[in-house]
Order: sequence, then C-alpha cells, then structure tokens
Amino acid sequence: MSYQVDEKGYYGEFGGAYIPEMLYPNVEELRSRYLKIMQEESFQKEFKDLLREYVGRPTPLYYAKRFSEKYGTKVYLKREDLCHTGAHKVNNTIGQILMAQKLGKKRIIAETGAGQHGVATATVCALMGMECIVYMGEIDIERQAPNVARMKMLGAKVVPAKSGSKTLKDATNEAIRDWINNPVDTHYIIGSVVGPHPYPDMVARFQSVISEEIKYQLKEKEGKEDPDYVVACVGGGSNAAGAYYHYLDNPKVGIIAVEAAGKGIDSGESAATSALGNAGIIHGSKTLLMQTGDGQITEPYSISAGLDYPGVGPMHANLFTSGRGEFISITDEAAMKAGLELAKLEGIIPAIETSHALAIFEDRKFKEDDIVVINLSGRGDKDLNTYIDYFNL
Ligand SMILES: *Cc1c(COP(=O)(O)O)cnc(C)c1O
Repeated sequence: MSYQVDEKGYYGEFGGAYIPEMLYPNVEELRSRYLKIMQEESFQKEFKDLLREYVGRPTPLYYAKRFSEKYGTKVYLKREDLCHTGAHKVNNTIGQILMAQKLGKKRIIAETGAGQHGVATATVCALMGMECIVYMGEIDIERQAPNVARMKMLGAKVVPAKSGSKTLKDATNEAIRDWINNPVDTHYIIGSVVGPHPYPDMVARFQSVISEEIKYQLKEKEGKEDPDYVVACVGGGSNAAGAYYHYLDNPKVGIIAVEAAGKGIDSGESAATSALGNAGIIHGSKTLLMQTGDGQITEPYSISAGLDYPGVGPMHANLFTSGRGEFISITDEAAMKAGLELAKLEGIIPAIETSHALAIFEDRKFKEDDIVVINLSGRGDKDLNTYIDYFNL
C-alpha cells in the first residue's frame, strides 16, 4: 500500500476531481500532460536552475543546538524561511509558471487569502513577464495591505471578490469563474496541495524538493538519510507534503502534522481540521473539512493566516484516517510562545504558521537520540505586527 496518489487521483478514499462540467477541459488538459511535462529534461533543468539561482536552494538543514538541548532530543530545522520571498510557497509557483509556459498559456490567475500565495505568484509572473490576476476577498484586501502593495509592485492586478463573506472562498469562486471563461490561454496557479486532481499531486511533486534535500543533507550530517520524525505545520498542507514526500512509504520515518487549534479545539474558533472535520467536498476534491451537519463550510479561525483554512489536502486526510500520520493541534497561545522561544534560542524569527510546529515539544516527548526534522516553512517578518501586539514588544 502506498500513501502517494493513485492513477485515478486518489489518496485512499480522498482526492479526485469534483468539478463543474464547464471546468472539465481545463483540468483534463493539465491532468493528461502534467507528468509528461515534468519528466522532460528541459523542464527539470529549468526548474532546478531557477530553484538554485533564483530561490536560493538548497536551503540549509540546520542543527538547532540550543533548541535541541532544551528539549533533550536532536532537532534539525529545514530552512525554507531562507527561500526568496520568505517561505516554501515559491517552490510551487516556480514549478507551475514553467508548467503554464509548456502548456502555451499566456495569462496567470490565482486566488489568495492572506496574500502570501498571491505574492509568490506575482513574483514568478514578474520573473517571466506574464500577465497576473490575483483574486482576493474585499475584506482580506483591507486586512493584508502590505501583501496587496507587494503584488501591485510586482505588476499583478488584484481583483476584489465582493460576494459572500468577501474572503478566501469567494476569491476562489471568482478565480474558477475566470478560468471557465478563459480555458485556452489561462493557467490557474493553486497555492497548496488542494483542489481537483492533478493539483494536489503536482504541487506535492514541486514541493518534494524539500525532502529530496533533507535526505542527502542528513546523510552528510548523520550518516543516514532517514530521520526518526519529520514535523510540519499543515494549512492546506503543501510544505508538509514536500517535507514528507520521500518518506511517505518508509514506515521507519514518523510523520507528524501540526494543525492550528486556534483558541482551543472546543472553542468554536479553531482550524484543527483532523479533530473537527469529516469527509466532504471542498475546492474540487474529496477530503476532510470543517462543516455543519448540513454540509455548509464552517468559518475557520487561527492567529496565523496561512493555517486559517477549513480543510486539508487529500494526502493529509489519508495520512490521518489511515493512522500513518500523527496529528497534533496547537493553540494560538502555545504557537506564539514557541515562536518567541525560537527567536531567543536560535536567533531565528519564524512565521507564526511554523511556530505551531515548533510548539509540539512542550508536550510531545522524544528520545535523546531521536533525530527530528522540523520544516521551518517561513520567516516571521510578515508577522511582526502580530508578534508586537501579542507580546507588547
Ligand atoms: C502558506 C503558509 C503555510 C501553510 O500552507 P501549507 O500549504 O500548509 O504549507 C505554512 N507556513 C508558511 C510560512 C506559509 O506561508
């Protein structure tokens, strides 16, 4: 049994492509061509060259000495925070813009909530000189002014979604509408391992460079490719999918997924999908999501914008229900404390998303000689105001 996607686009019972008929040609074009394109030598060369020269890969696998001493185990940090634009998201947008070019597309659309994926998309569009339209909820545009400014500086057009709750899901609806109307010349860049097949698998493959590097870097440092555990925070699940990818079918490596409990799992203000969700369809795939008894999506909550999502990608839904992954949820409070602690122990200010992964060590104990790799998904610059307000800095 494999935890990778099967040929029909499923991870166990999760995944698939539950899309309106009018979107079928777009998704089918991508599905029928993505693997062949990704295997072309010219594609691999362009992708690897850009990851090296533009993104700054490989990112270091850093042994966190003081953090390790504090928690009595060996902790390595995979430094995705050092990627250009400050997080792992650009690995995926670089891959997808190259894919769009190979498919002959001229125009890029995306949706964004907190703006991080919008910035990563606008960045690669500027790099390639391609037209970029980012849909964003009207309320999110107000809340995330710095990222809106970044996207504009990078030449993207930010289009407000004014319907519904004026947030991420409304922006998604607008992006889908655009794609239906522009099936020939437009590629839709989805920002995580979510959406209809083949997106979860394609995005996981682009992000899999993370675990590809961990393997040889750990071999250099510890004489073996396999850590005892790989830990990552899960919003949609793309940084986690990349960190787990080459270990999924290796049962000797423990997989730990960390979700946002928000103000507590039972508080009504949470984004802990594995604890609170059940099977349903969101964003074109069957997965676990937070919903009411009659199937309406529940508004999620987390202090970190990147984890504030009511579902998880189908790979993670399967890791949870099969028991392959250990799922832990962390409150706002514990995450904020862990972020401040990493700053003081290692001189690294993490994104608040990442702080959730760092917070598990308070309760989850490891053996002294365990090797635990934490995927440090992003840096905390974007979160400085939240840290300032929270700690009265
Ligand atoms: C967007 C983001 C996340 C959450 O997205 P995933 O797809 O779950 O990785 C996590 N960390 C950072 C720094 C982010 O920007």
